[in-house]
This record gives sequence, C-alpha cells and structure tokens, in this order.
Amino acid sequence: KNTEQGEGERGRIIFSFEYFTPKPGHATVSGFMDTVSRMSSHGPSFCDITWRPRDPYPAVTLDLAGRMQAEVGVETMMHLTCIGMPLERVDHALDTARAKGVRNILALRGDLLPGQEGAPRGDGFSSALDLVKYIRSKHGDYFGITVAGYPEAHPSKIPKGSEVATDEGYESDLAYLKEKVDAGADMIITQLFFDADVFIKFIKDCRRVGIKCPVVPGILPITTYRNFKFMTETCKTKVPKAVRAKVEAAKGNDAALAAYGVELATEICRKILRETDVRALHFYTMNKEEPAVAVLTNLGLLGVAKNAVVVN
Ligand code: FAD
Repeated sequence: KNTEQGEGERGRIIFSFEYFTPKPGHATVSGFMDTVSRMSSHGPSFCDITWRPRDPYPAVTLDLAGRMQAEVGVETMMHLTCIGMPLERVDHALDTARAKGVRNILALRGDLLPGQEGAPRGDGFSSALDLVKYIRSKHGDYFGITVAGYPEAHPSKIPKGSEVATDEGYESDLAYLKEKVDAGADMIITQLFFDADVFIKFIKDCRRVGIKCPVVPGILPITTYRNFKFMTETCKTKVPKAVRAKVEAAKGNDAALAAYGVELATEICRKILRETDVRALHFYTMNKEEPAVAVLTNLGLLGVAKNAVVVN
C-alpha cells in the first residue's frame, strides 16, 4: 500500500527495515519499540515484523504490528505464514491486522515441519500461493501483498551436497514465483545473498519470465560470526570465497567482523544500484540499528534532501 514504491522507480532510492518478533515481556517489547521508533526517524518507506507460528508469538506480532502502525506511525508490513495453520487462525491474524490499521502482509508458507513435505496443494493452506489467493478473495485490495523470492532458488531446490540449485529447480522456482505475483502479489522481497551478481541475474530472470512488480533485494549486514553461520546454513546461501576468507579472518573479533559486514553490504548495495534499475533496499536489521544505518550513511542516503540520489 506504499505509494513510495513508485517513486523509487522514478529515481529516488527508498529503503525498509525488517525486525524479528521479540520474546514477550515488558523489557524486550519496549526495547523493540524504541529501536523501531528511533530507526523510523531515518525515513524508511515501511518496516516489517516477522511471524513465528508458535504461541505466544502470533499475539506478540499482532500487537507490535498494530503499535508500529498506530504509535510509531510507520507504514507497517506484517509477515504471516500459513502452513499447518487452521483457517480460523489465518482469519484471526488478517482480521486483527486489519482492525489495527495494518495494510501490508508478507504472505508466506513458512518452513515445513517433518511430515509436511508431501502436503497436497489446494488442501488447506499448503503454499504462499494459497495464502495470496485467499487474502485477495477475502480482503480484495485492502492489503498490499508481498511475497518471498529466492535469488539462489528456495533451499528445497538445492540438492543435498550441492551449493547450487539445478537449472530445472531454479526455473521452476521462478515460474512459481510468477504464479504468486499473478495471483495478486504486488512486490517481492528476496532472501539474503552475499554476491550482488546473484541478485542482478535474478532480477533479469524475473523480467525474462514476465514478473513486472518491484523486486527488492534483502540485505543482511553481517554482524556476528554465529549469526552469519546460522543464516547462511539455514538459507543455504552461497558465500563467495573472498567473503568467506574475510569472515573467517575476523572470527573472534566482533568489531572487525561488524565493520566488514557494513563494508560488504555497502558494496553489494552500490553494485545493485549502479547496475540495475532497482531503487529500493530492504534491510534485515536483526533488531539492531547500527549496521543498516551505517550502510545507508555510506550510500549517502541519510540526512540528505528527500529527492536526492547519491550513489557512486
Ligand atoms: P512458497 O512460496 O509457498 O514456496 C516455497 C518454495 O517451494 C518455492 O520457492 C518453490 O521452490 C517450492 N514450491 C512450492 N510450490 C511450488 C510449485 N507449485 N511449483 C514449483 N515449486 C514450488 N519464515 C517464517 O517462519 N517467518 C517469517 O516471518 C519469514 N519471513 C521471511 C521473509 C522473507 C523475505 C523470506 C525470503 C523468507 C521468510 N521466511 C519466514 C522463510 C520462509 O517461510 C521459508 O523460506 C519457507 O520455507 C518458504 O516460504 P515461502 O513463502 O517462500 O513458500
């Protein structure tokens, strides 16, 4: 629902911040709200909050999404997963978000639990595609809908023991992504990656198969070694040799690793902005202010006149 997306295409560079749902509790929640509030002063086009399907997290996400929208006043996007969720829980999430004035949903399947791999399509919610169709049929155009895209293909398309998807897997992933867009998604946010060329190829391939909506790169500035290992292993992200060498060299030195994380993310953003017409950047903040803000500062995108485009 964010009209700024269009402005991005006309030349202005916009950015957004993603936060994960904190553990319930007064201190964690107020710390979260403080971070979102402070970072909102930098002018993100929207902020989003992740979804964790197990109780007590859905209630926390719904509450915080509402507060981000109403109290912080930032355009808010709520993630929603649907695999294994009874219809009434999906309805409750969407109706509550709507009642709280949240107008953007990142429609996701969510990770499969053991035994869910063979879930038949069309039988309840078994994919993000089902959820996109459902939101559009039930809520019309009320929600702006975003879906997840995978520049290296979804991990399920990467054979065991291999670092990369098969060509067939990659192409079927793209065709399926187009189905999600054709069913009503307005925008794609990508999985993290550490090689700008991977994203540059992906966006060309999206256009080749007829995906016309904005494709926003998901940028993760590396912060800690543990987080880097966890994210790259879970998401099966390919790590270029030079990046791995630098990360390993900085292992044990948190400050050096964080500085490298900012430098790498800056380089990746610069290359994407230079070599594509993408004008929107999405930051996986890991609920930390400094890394994303440092990258945006390096790019000259903070504290400059609203219409400035400063990237070299
Ligand atoms: P889908 O789009 O339904 O499908 C996933 C993959 O399955 C496809 O990419 C494709 O490879 C394959 N597939 C499914 N149907 C077909 C078909 N018909 N033909 C061919 N291939 C098919 N997880 C959370 O739990 N909470 C979050 O808040 C969250 N936020 C995320 C945000 C972003 C930007 C991204 C990229 C991921 C996020 N995830 C989150 C992770 C996500 O839930 C997992 O990656 C999950 O395994 C897939 O969800 P999806 O919506 O991409 O699924």
